[in-house]
Amino acid sequence: MSTSLLRIQCLCGSSASTISLPSSSLPLQTYLCHCNISRHISGCLCSSYARYPPLSQTPRPDLSALTAYRSSDILTRYFCTTCGTHMYLEYDDDGHFEIATGLLAGLAVDPDRPPMSIVKHVGHMWIEDTEDGGASDWISDLNGKSAERWMRGANSNDTGMLFARCYCGGVEFAISRPDSESCVHDGTADFPDLLVPYNSEKSAKNPDGKPWWLSNDGRRYTAGTCACDSCRRAAGFEIVEWAFVPAGNIMVPELRDASEPPIWRKYEVGREFGTGLLQSFSSSDRVFRRFCGGCGANIFWESYNRPYIIDVAVGILRAPEGARAETWLEWVTDRVSFCEEGANPGLVYDLTRGLEGWGKRLSLVSMIP
Ligand SMILES: [Zn+2]
Ligand SMILES: [Zn+2]
Ligand SMILES: [Zn+2]
Repeated sequence: MSTSLLRIQCLCGSSASTISLPSSSLPLQTYLCHCNISRHISGCLCSSYARYPPLSQTPRPDLSALTAYRSSDILTRYFCTTCGTHMYLEYDDDGHFEIATGLLAGLAVDPDRPPMSIVKHVGHMWIEDTEDGGASDWISDLNGKSAERWMRGANSNDTGMLFARCYCGGVEFAISRPDSESCVHDGTADFPDLLVPYNSEKSAKNPDGKPWWLSNDGRRYTAGTCACDSCRRAAGFEIVEWAFVPAGNIMVPELRDASEPPIWRKYEVGREFGTGLLQSFSSSDRVFRRFCGGCGANIFWESYNRPYIIDVAVGILRAPEGARAETWLEWVTDRVSFCEEGANPGLVYDLTRGLEGWGKRLSLVSMIP
């Protein structure tokens, strides 16, 4: 087994050690933490730690030159008593250590392998604490992919399902992560106006069955904004956000009395579910808009012409990472669907420009080699 040696040293050198770990465990994956404690204790807008090898394989870190500080009741932090460098976290629950990632720069280079980063940041966590997004808005992409954004701890409450619930709770369902069946095409899924504008004179037909509803290597559902007359009137508001989700990835509770426990099954267009509050209105031929009869929330746009893909109203999603549900959805930023119909052209124009700028900032970051 090939191993890599990591040199861990503070600024003044009072604390210095070398640990070895399996090269296969590199890069060490972690998140940039923006929480209040991290910022106030480091003086940095975000900071990160990587997992120290199991103590069964590696000697415990030498803490003799370090000051211990209990910043919360779950862990102890260690910084150099002489120079102040933050070095380790020690967790109470299972006793594992983590290393401040800024110290992990001393990888012994293996001449037979391309140089490799020791640490791989995949996202942000505890953005909620910053109020304004903090440094997370400066690092929107990581390693060429949209950074995961968690309002609280990374993967907090990640049950593998994304729950959706209207305000009154009358309509509830859950969305599963894209799987091998999510890209199966039944021949009906033409490109939506979001991707091929109605007025562009390009064909929106999709005979090859391109799974446009999946993005980010099939890991997320495509989502976008719509300013069409029909959406506007259905919602009562100028801009409506939709996520495109295969019916087979939507789990709904079978129709039941409110007192009975739910039995979950895959959704199919037109099926009733829940406790009877879900309402339908046909806004055009074979097209149905479904909404909650209790509180009025938009739920689905669906069509028998395209039964495989359901438009899900984004405002009712309850993603722990935030309203844009960015570990689930990839937002289309170069067009507002049916922007030509916008009833409030000023607002739609500002949204179009704002989305473009937001999208450009994302892609600029991903172009940096
Ligand atoms: Zn020191
Ligand atoms: Zn629309
Ligand atoms: Zn409701």
